[in-house]
Amino acid sequence: MQTSELEKEHRKLFPKRSEAEWLEIFPQAKEFIIWKIGELRREMKARAVETLAKVRVIKEKSVKEKQWFWFMVIERLDIGVIVELSQEIRKLKTVLHPNLTRPKMFGKMAVERAGNTPIQSIVDFTLKKSGKAFVGRCPFHIDRTPSFYIYLDTNTYHCYGCLAHGDAIKFIMESCKIPFKKAVRLLLAINN
Ligand SMILES: [Zn+2]
Repeated sequence: MQTSELEKEHRKLFPKRSEAEWLEIFPQAKEFIIWKIGELRREMKARAVETLAKVRVIKEKSVKEKQWFWFMVIERLDIGVIVELSQEIRKLKTVLHPNLTRPKMFGKMAVERAGNTPIQSIVDFTLKKSGKAFVGRCPFHIDRTPSFYIYLDTNTYHCYGCLAHGDAIKFIMESCKIPFKKAVRLLLAINN
């Protein structure tokens, strides 16, 4: 018998099973998977909060000309890890519910959910309540008197000094210097 045939014979001893089939054999694993998903979600959230804190430090401690480098590190490493964690969570969820069709990982619903993150919860400066808005010093220009408004009804911001304007996704894109898709991922991780 040739080696390849021997290997084929040997493989027959261990038939390939899908993850769902394995779960039927070891139903105890379900509990572990549920626990694991919880752990991963906590880790993802902690990472996201940490990332925002890092952005704050970069802005405070690094001269403007060198910030691009640190923002690139954030984009590649920090957001990269968040994306990996969310993929892992998704994979485990599919193992638990193989027949359930899940909404697309990056679809309209994800964007909507990210956009609904209250802007006042992600800004890194002091805000004062003023009627149905929050007011603070604009992070996008040198603002001596507070001209940055967050409107609670629409969850949008507007700066009357530099005319910066947008929603939670745009705020993250501009302040963390990351592209659209990654901004959405970061926000989803924060309010996960
Ligand atoms: Zn401004």
